[in-house]
Amino acid sequence: MEGEEVSLLCISDIHGKVDVAKAFVKELSQSPVLERINIIIVAGDVGNPQRSDAFYSVMGELAKLGKPIYYVRGNWDVNAPSGIFSEDPLIADLEAIGPLDLGVAVLVGHGKRLRPFKGVKSKPVVLVTHYPPFSILDKGKKLESPYQSLHAGLPEINYLISYYKPVLHIFGHSHSFGGIDIKHNGVIYANVSRLDRVGRSGNYIGNYAIITLRRGGGVSIRWRFLNGIWKRCSRCGRRTHLPSEWTLCRKCANRFDLGFKRLSKDLEKVEVIVSEVGGGELLHEVFHVPISTLKDEEAYADFIDYMMLKRLREVVEGLGDKLVTLPKDRVIEYYSEEPEELIPFSEYLFACDSSKVGEKICALMRLYMLDKRAHVLWRLSRNENSTLISKEYVLASEEALCHEQLVRDLLRQGFTPLAYSVKKGVENV
Ligand SMILES: [Zn+2]
Ligand SMILES: [Zn+2]
Repeated sequence: MEGEEVSLLCISDIHGKVDVAKAFVKELSQSPVLERINIIIVAGDVGNPQRSDAFYSVMGELAKLGKPIYYVRGNWDVNAPSGIFSEDPLIADLEAIGPLDLGVAVLVGHGKRLRPFKGVKSKPVVLVTHYPPFSILDKGKKLESPYQSLHAGLPEINYLISYYKPVLHIFGHSHSFGGIDIKHNGVIYANVSRLDRVGRSGNYIGNYAIITLRRGGGVSIRWRFLNGIWKRCSRCGRRTHLPSEWTLCRKCANRFDLGFKRLSKDLEKVEVIVSEVGGGELLHEVFHVPISTLKDEEAYADFIDYMMLKRLREVVEGLGDKLVTLPKDRVIEYYSEEPEELIPFSEYLFACDSSKVGEKICALMRLYMLDKRAHVLWRLSRNENSTLISKEYVLASEEALCHEQLVRDLLRQGFTPLAYSVKKGVENV
């Protein structure tokens, strides 16, 4: 593309709903906007894993707009094709065809691949993924998150951003933050989910974005809703395109979750050590943390926790065993000695009655009180033809495991305490 600007029509999260695609095509076909669109970008979850034809039916509808379509595969696109799947109009898996030169920018897509493409940084990069980066516009449900947190984003994508330093990152997946863009440390993040949003009366109110890229890296984003109308946000007063039943703009509706902080440079390299209390080291490494891609200090601590667990799993796997994390809500299920009554987690935490629920769970609760990021980890070993739990680790901060009585209790209950320390501001080792 030769011009001074390129316009992208961006959508995601259709989840195999052909009627939604039809409504979208109908609306765009009647809009003067379509003429100025150069390409359509679909940031994943086009199809439905239970209906293998759904991906094709949805794409068949979108093709009627007569524009080239580039997509990345999402978690719902298990049976989606890879490569170029139609020639006229062109429909292609952006990851499979590799970086695409748009003239004013390079478009790079990652669906399943985590390694960056080399040699694309001579022009402003526009990154497309299905998942958000960890902690950026990525609110999710615990069950949908890859590791049982309220973040649906993937830390591996933060590393891609830190590598490409894109001017713009387009993604979907986290529906509750769909239709919002923010700028953080020089990168504009646009969560374009979801097109299959449905209103109170079953009407389609999905959102899409018209994004214009200009030579020199300029980006402008216009948000639109299916069947939307222009109105003023009842809180900030900004004129905005919204479903008729909504009164707040997307940013105002999510204002309590949109506070971003810049992290200090000495958090970028940290030395992480994990060792058995009174025993040897299991992990001793310097982590490079992509701090410019993290929302705040809380996200930073969660990120280190995630990376530490990931590396620990790899270390234990290297020793021929497996390491599994027991989610916090499962800890009670496994370790509590069948209480007769319904006891909420907070009661275990603040007033654990060992005569009722057992010593084991109460020792764990005392540990959680000292370190809310403590984990129970099972080391699984194989012998001949069965798998057994060879060690029950509890991983917690050095400070939490300073308490000698607690450590003695944990040991007596059969746990192997693992202490971690995170040292900031270190040089490369
Ligand atoms: Zn998804
Ligand atoms: Zn507002």
